[in-house]
Amino acid sequence: MKILDLVSQRLPEKYALHEKYLNAQLVRVLKTIGYDVPYTEARGPYLFDAEGNRYLDLLSGWGVFSVGRNHPRVIEAVNDVLHAGLPHLVQMDVTVLAGILAERLVAKMPPGLEKVFFCSSGTEAVESAIKFARYATRRSKLVFVEHGFHGLTMGSLALNGTEVFREGFGPHLPDTVRVPFDDLPALEAALSGRDVAAFFVEPIVGHGVLIPSDEYLPQAQALCRKYGTLLVADEVQTGIGRTGKFLAGEHWDLEPDMVCLAKALSGGFVPVGAVCARKWIFDALFDRLDRAAVHGSTYSKNNLAMAAGLATLEVIEEEKLVENAARMGQQILDDLRPLVGRYEFLKEVRGKGMMLALEFGRPESLRLRAAWKLLEAANEGLFCQLITVPLFQRHRILSQVAGPGMQVVKFLPPLGIGEEDRQWIASACEEVIADAHRVGGAIWDLGKQLAGAAIRMKTQGA
Ligand code: PLP
Repeated sequence: MKILDLVSQRLPEKYALHEKYLNAQLVRVLKTIGYDVPYTEARGPYLFDAEGNRYLDLLSGWGVFSVGRNHPRVIEAVNDVLHAGLPHLVQMDVTVLAGILAERLVAKMPPGLEKVFFCSSGTEAVESAIKFARYATRRSKLVFVEHGFHGLTMGSLALNGTEVFREGFGPHLPDTVRVPFDDLPALEAALSGRDVAAFFVEPIVGHGVLIPSDEYLPQAQALCRKYGTLLVADEVQTGIGRTGKFLAGEHWDLEPDMVCLAKALSGGFVPVGAVCARKWIFDALFDRLDRAAVHGSTYSKNNLAMAAGLATLEVIEEEKLVENAARMGQQILDDLRPLVGRYEFLKEVRGKGMMLALEFGRPESLRLRAAWKLLEAANEGLFCQLITVPLFQRHRILSQVAGPGMQVVKFLPPLGIGEEDRQWIASACEEVIADAHRVGGAIWDLGKQLAGAAIRMKTQGA
């Protein structure tokens, strides 16, 4: 059967299939919060359902669709390569496409990052950087930050700063040290033994959209240099233009020793990851003929990922998406910041470029405080569902809570969104936030429902 016929024939069964053969709990979550929509099409920043309704996608597949969904230029590049019958994955050979993509990435990197290692995901980029750092420095310790997120395989999980992800999967990789984010004395204390191979940090921590103080990253870099520790910037989420610069580290003129990339690099089509590193690190790792294959992975450098990566970089440049991300991001901040102060639950609106956050917190007035407590007692961070669920159900805006137990709603829009989308965001946010302050109104019925569901899930252990 033709693949598209198969898709349309079996589409109504998609949740049943997942319930039976994949992650049933995910289906349960989707159904509980009413996100079980039969999407049929996706273009640019929009998803469309079977009835032709348009949804604004501020989740971007967790940050992969920076150039928008199904970008025709990326499709063309992938199609061309697919249909040309080019050789790749010969393994005992190299391809020109990987060489060109590495050349283009190096041109975008801060000075000194001259080498590229390709892989197939963000976590694999981080795993690779862990190995590179340990081998090149001959040290074993790794330092990471609270709330940091670097992926969910065993190495990157050992650098995860949120307990819920780690719990039950131990023992974790030894010699890892957690420090608070944006705390230079704690970092110096961790590094001062001169036994730390690398400090892993997202320039803006994705879980919570935590933006450091201005001096943190430059000073952290200086501390790394002082104590012989490599600075690894995990730009898997913040990179490729997301924050209004090609790399978020550019906001602070960072010159890390390694930069990890993935997500948006292939335009959302083909799994891809990359570590850009100093040459001496590569020279240390691949130091002899018999070590030429000491680290690698079978599908890395595959033609489809490389072609998608090249097309994505071209689209980003030609459509001036980094500039648009910076300008639109600022405008959205300007639109939403005045809501702080007008609405008690809303504590802060922050972000850079197309990485934006609304932070909520405990209100002052007694009336709202009781409602807040009800939700928090049911499940920490539940209040945010009172924002994300109506944003989706009433305004067809897809967004997310910024991390487990967090009171932060996060937007990761495609970098090219326009004026209409901006107004869509501004008016929907204001309406939903205002509604959340009407205790007893429809949104709080939803709150009670969600609190009930959360308690049931907890008590049933499911
Ligand atoms: N690093 C950061 C900063 C991320 O945000 C993520 C994913 O969300 C990862 C690493 C892991 O990437 P992947 O899911 O492609 O393994």
